[in-house]
Amino acid sequence: MRRHGKLEYGGLAAPQRTCVGCRVRTAKSELLRLVRVEDQVVPDLRGRLPGRGASLHPSTSCLELAERRRAFPRAFRVPGPLDVSRVRAHLEGDHEMSCRTPS
Ligand SMILES: [Zn+2]
Repeated sequence: MRRHGKLEYGGLAAPQRTCVGCRVRTAKSELLRLVRVEDQVVPDLRGRLPGRGASLHPSTSCLELAERRRAFPRAFRVPGPLDVSRVRAHLEGDHEMSCRTPS
């Protein structure tokens, strides 16, 4: 009888994360890491920001799905709504906006 642990033997599989929008599990490298800064969700482009992260396919349709199902407050464990305008700007290619520091 095959032991469950055998399936994880070697640990060579790429780390996977679930997209908070479409809920599909994908290699971590395919997903955009998002972090919360106060009441904003911001793209963690270098993967270095501290704190709890959420993963999203870099597509506006997944962002919209995540917003519609209120996935961000759940992912970041906050009660209120979060501003995703910087994530949207990033996905729409407006890098000037997405890199702006919240004031
Ligand atoms: Zn997705």
